[in-house]
Amino acid sequence: MADQQFLDEINKRRTFAIISHPDAGKTTITEKVLLFGRAIQQAGTVKGKKSGQHAKSDWMDMEKERGISITTSVMQFPYADHLVNLLDTPGHEDFSEDTYRTLTAVDSCLMVIDSAKGVEDRTIKLMDVARMRETPILTFMNKLDRDIRDPIELMDEVENVLKISCAPITWPIGMGKEFKGVYHLLNDEIILYQNGMGHAIQDSQVIKGLNNPELDEVLGAYADELREQIELLEAAANPFDLEEFLAGQLTPVYFGTALGNFGVDHMLDGLVEWAPRPQPRMASEQQVAAEKAELSGFVFKIQANMDPNHRDRIAFMRIVSGKYEKGMKMKHVRLGKDVRISDALTFLAGDRAAVEEAFPGDIIGLHNHGTIQIGDTFTQGEELKFSGIPNFAPELFRRIRLKDPLKIKQLQKGLMQLSEEGAVQVFRPFRNNDLIVGAVGMLQFDVVAHRLKSEYKVEAVYEPISVATARWVSSDDEKALQAFKTKAHDHLALDGSDSLTYVASTMVNLQMAQERHPDIVFRKTREH
Ligand code: GDP
Repeated sequence: MADQQFLDEINKRRTFAIISHPDAGKTTITEKVLLFGRAIQQAGTVKGKKSGQHAKSDWMDMEKERGISITTSVMQFPYADHLVNLLDTPGHEDFSEDTYRTLTAVDSCLMVIDSAKGVEDRTIKLMDVARMRETPILTFMNKLDRDIRDPIELMDEVENVLKISCAPITWPIGMGKEFKGVYHLLNDEIILYQNGMGHAIQDSQVIKGLNNPELDEVLGAYADELREQIELLEAAANPFDLEEFLAGQLTPVYFGTALGNFGVDHMLDGLVEWAPRPQPRMASEQQVAAEKAELSGFVFKIQANMDPNHRDRIAFMRIVSGKYEKGMKMKHVRLGKDVRISDALTFLAGDRAAVEEAFPGDIIGLHNHGTIQIGDTFTQGEELKFSGIPNFAPELFRRIRLKDPLKIKQLQKGLMQLSEEGAVQVFRPFRNNDLIVGAVGMLQFDVVAHRLKSEYKVEAVYEPISVATARWVSSDDEKALQAFKTKAHDHLALDGSDSLTYVASTMVNLQMAQERHPDIVFRKTREH
């Protein structure tokens, strides 16, 4: 039996990530969330895109130069008697497989939508990934201080495009210059917006009850308009349903402005109340629950050189069960070896600190000297192997070529290690000696060239190559597979882990191959 203190630690944790299209306001919301968590005193330090201030969640030089966040950093902060872990995901145009894999390490997601624009394509992709595990989603409709689209229309779009029901929790009163605040449907209260308070926690004026005459005094004509809208809404909109939310079928919707620091706390209240505590994960055939006393966890990301003063690699491990204590022995299951971990890191608002103890839902950083790979499991001695940490079929491809051909060995070594880390994927075609690298985001190519140079002393250049997509292929029918290998020889390659891959020049080519070879399974993801 798990002791009560341990259960309390589990119950108070919420681990989530933000999914959004670039510029929807993810960084601004992260700042405000941390402000509420008192993790930083004044908002505005997460990303200094324009001001030149450096983000707390940005680490590498390249990120600083570009003012973007490449790494998936981790921020932990207290909020309303809970402990929240926010896993940051890149918000820039360029993103990577890390973004996708981070979603395997959270228990819920916040979807942020620019209310002037509605559902955008990156959000659609990220939602697809969040769906793979039926992750519960909260929604924040941002930028209410601007002229936005009709809120009903926005919710319809979310429902139609993303196939998830919307349950408004707050409802906006006015928009743009006339944005007055929101009505909280469940609390029956009006929370008034004050302009120009974006950098501080607002002491908002709250009016209790939709029929309160105070409302007419403060809002004038808006008061009756609001009453009418809410009457309509209560008849037409979905009520919030916890079970549907937990099944990923319904999303509670909040309205506000991250820049004006209004509404983010309403969302946080919903997150700590409804979002799930640390969830079980599948390890081979069994579910591992958070309450299990023995420590277990999986690595979902490896980050090199986060801190120029430490020039090391950090493996990010999500704790699934048990308790981590400084100095404990853990089993590195893939290597079958015990390792003593005395210097794991936690991430309080991006600052690294040595961790004394950590619990399910937490992310700890392990120093990695080349022995840890994406998907690795650590336990307290047990033979467990967590599943579900995938590689995603790349969408961008380049041929990589050396400036100095004599360094081919270093290049191969570097690429193999970088692909094990999940920084990029490598494909070696059967038909020639090309090395093809594949990525989900453009920036991965730059990161890899940069790291090949600084860590492996290899100067490599990229060349365009006409590859549209790749699929991992397999078959239960050994004969069919052999026939396929002969027929499709010129399209086949081995990836970094020697898995057989079909490399398609066009989507049409892929489609034809699938039609011609019905006994072959073409997969968009491959598990580590
Ligand atoms: P990200 O790319 O999703 O991280 O978006 P950012 O947080 O960097 O925001 C993109 C731009 O939108 C920045 O210029 C922000 O200042 C701005 N922004 C974010 N939230 C709001 C908001 O509530 N209202 C307005 N008017 N602008 C916002």
